[in-house]
Amino acid sequence: MSLFPFFRRKTFSRGVHPDANKRTAGSPIRRMPFASRMILPLAQHIGKPAVPLVRAGEEVVRGQPIARADGFLSVPLHAPADGVIEAIELKPSARGPWVESLVLRVYEASTQEVRWANPCDVESLSPKEILQAIQDSGMVGLGGATFPSHAKLSVPAEHKIHTLIVNGCECEPYLTCDHRLMLEHPADLMVGVRLAMRAIGAERAIIGVEDNKLDAVAAIRECLPADSSITVQVVPTKYPQGAEKMLIKSLLDLEVPPGKLPMQVGVVVNNIGTLAQLGQLLPAGQGLTERVVTVTGPGIKKPGDYWVPIGTPMRTVLEWAGAADSGEREIILGGPMMGQAVASLEVPVTKGVPGILVFDQLQIEAARQVWPCIKCGECVNACPMGLNPSMLGMLAVQREYEEMGTHYHLGDCFECGCCTYVCPSHIPLVQQFRVAKGVLRGKAA
Ligand code: SF4
Ligand code: SF4
Repeated sequence: MSLFPFFRRKTFSRGVHPDANKRTAGSPIRRMPFASRMILPLAQHIGKPAVPLVRAGEEVVRGQPIARADGFLSVPLHAPADGVIEAIELKPSARGPWVESLVLRVYEASTQEVRWANPCDVESLSPKEILQAIQDSGMVGLGGATFPSHAKLSVPAEHKIHTLIVNGCECEPYLTCDHRLMLEHPADLMVGVRLAMRAIGAERAIIGVEDNKLDAVAAIRECLPADSSITVQVVPTKYPQGAEKMLIKSLLDLEVPPGKLPMQVGVVVNNIGTLAQLGQLLPAGQGLTERVVTVTGPGIKKPGDYWVPIGTPMRTVLEWAGAADSGEREIILGGPMMGQAVASLEVPVTKGVPGILVFDQLQIEAARQVWPCIKCGECVNACPMGLNPSMLGMLAVQREYEEMGTHYHLGDCFECGCCTYVCPSHIPLVQQFRVAKGVLRGKAA
């Protein structure tokens, strides 16, 4: 019998049940050493790139702000180690185009000590001061969205927020970084949750955790406040349970209408890893210089969750985690459902990278064999947004992008990858939708 029989087990309709493959869940988070050279793109968030505060040749210390936010929808950048800024130049990014980046040559003597910090009493901060402190920390949605956290928690006066939902589902296969943070840092999580509640004026918070992480539920319950303002609820393990609209439906039985935001139904959703790290950083007055990354997959010899300094090149991470250095392989940043393949090992770990997965040749070949659509309807049955991915895919092949947007609601697709996962013909539907959205965005601009 379940240890938690009293929790509600509501869920959303459709979705899929991929193999979890969470083989790193049982090991503590380890620390990855500094690479000799770090690459720090100025745009690691949605919004305007940060503006450098340093010049080539300048020495910096770990934690020092090295680029400032450029406006409301932007965040600063902090040095991940002691060293010297070697250059400010274009470097390859995970998305393909080269982007302006700071190159930091790390001193061999650099330690884990954060040498630039401004500790404060977070209990005395007003909501406005909390939001400013969050922006100053450089925090973005660590689940992969990279939306600046202070902006997400800035609620216009016309919306009254009744509930903060904390997303502890980590529904992507393979990834366990949030699971480990819940187990190892529940007290920091509580600090972060309370700060977020004060920032948005919510009187309650619900932490949603999938039922394959009951040890994390138990760890969090030990730290819950006595006044019941923060609760934890178990939800069924199902992908994409962690998507905002799905989680709101599961926990509150509320529907967020198409094209609307959660705050329009009185809810703000935040990722659990983001709040756990905010709970560490804000009282210490520190910026975001590292994050937990799950490094795993069949091509990794030492899989695990690691504290990885932001800016560490992929090559260094893979060497440290024991990736085979020969043969064909595919490297995915993020989870297998929503992640992105990277072509260059010089691409760095940025704020929005929760996982690095390495797959070997056999799996790549299996995925590459694409067959015509057999009109089985599996993708329609799987789509949690009730879309018709089969039709959208056919229109994408014909480059009927306008039609996809106007009549088949491409804008409601949040690229969860369920359709691609279930397609027996291995049609790369979600990749087609990303291209179509890019074209439509370009036309709109
Ligand atoms: S169409 Fe979009 S939202 Fe629907 S299953 Fe495919 S990727 Fe997910
Ligand atoms: S799942 Fe694939 S084969 Fe089946 S209808 Fe959808 S696109 Fe066609």
